Amino acid sequence: MSSHPQQSAVTVLGLGPMGRALAGAFLDAGLRTTVWNRTPGRNRDLVERGAVGARSAEEAVAASGLTVACVVNYDAVDAILRREAVTDALKGRTVVNLSADTPARARDTAAWAAGHGIQYLDGAIMTPTTTIGTPAAVFIHSGPEELYRKHLPVLEALGGTHTHLGEEIGRAAAYDIALLDIFWTAMAGYAHALAVAKAEGVTAQELAPLAKGIGAIIPPLFEQAAEGVDSGDFSGEGNPITSAASSMAHIVQTSEGHGIDAGVMRAAEGMARRVIGLGHGTDGFIRIAEVLGRR
Ligand code: NDP
Repeated sequence: MSSHPQQSAVTVLGLGPMGRALAGAFLDAGLRTTVWNRTPGRNRDLVERGAVGARSAEEAVAASGLTVACVVNYDAVDAILRREAVTDALKGRTVVNLSADTPARARDTAAWAAGHGIQYLDGAIMTPTTTIGTPAAVFIHSGPEELYRKHLPVLEALGGTHTHLGEEIGRAAAYDIALLDIFWTAMAGYAHALAVAKAEGVTAQELAPLAKGIGAIIPPLFEQAAEGVDSGDFSGEGNPITSAASSMAHIVQTSEGHGIDAGVMRAAEGMARRVIGLGHGTDGFIRIAEVLGRR
């Protein structure tokens, strides 16, 4: 195996659903793709399609100038990369870490990489495995821009859009966390709504079309609220937070009346009541962002 980094070669560490999708897209693009996973046997279909199945992580990273890591979190990344043999093999090469974790972990990994002569970019994938290799995939990246530009042609084999969010290494993870905050809070709301609807005799499929309508109201509100938050205008004209708190109390009452836990809604109502208690009752719901940010 060549000891020289190769521009047209890429290594994928981690063959969970996402790692396999990434490796498959690299193969489809005709790149020499080397794969490795902690648990053996997960590379079978990829090897059949032409991937090189490395016997160890150090052999895998030595095969390419660029290694893409995609495992469950940065503890797993550390368990793979911070073994001496792997760290040594990575010297002078680039790691693009597409695993999810916190901005602080991204900064820590970048500091470790810099201390070992490893070039490092952080990133996150914002769409499901089925989008990889298609125009629908969304990737965000952060770290040295020159390094990003150098590896972008290979990363573009993954399809979709790639956005460089800045040189500060934690930025991709910061966006990821904020976007997943929206996603999981919304999904928690939907799961809860389905439970309450069922208790009232409404099936999930009966609710779904109207639930989609509620979802469609939200994007314009995001934009409007973003303008308000950045400019400090929290005006609640036509929809004060007192009205929101009252609506939330109805949800709590109905849920708990059916013996369904309403912890998420109680927390949201609690934030609204705090804002009202601070004298902002005529402001809109998004005043919560400013009050939470006071810390
Ligand atoms: P998982 O998040 O379940 O990650 C599975 C991978 O992590 C496997 O390769 C697994 O290896 C590896 N792993 C776990 N613990 C360790 C460890 N201690 N040491 C070494 N390897 C370990 O599945 P995905 O592939 O779906 O996700 C990978 C990343 O992609 C995650 O950070 C996820 O948040 C992100 N992502 C995933 C999306 C999706 O739709 N699946 C969408 C967007 C982002 P093993 O097989 O040996 O257990």
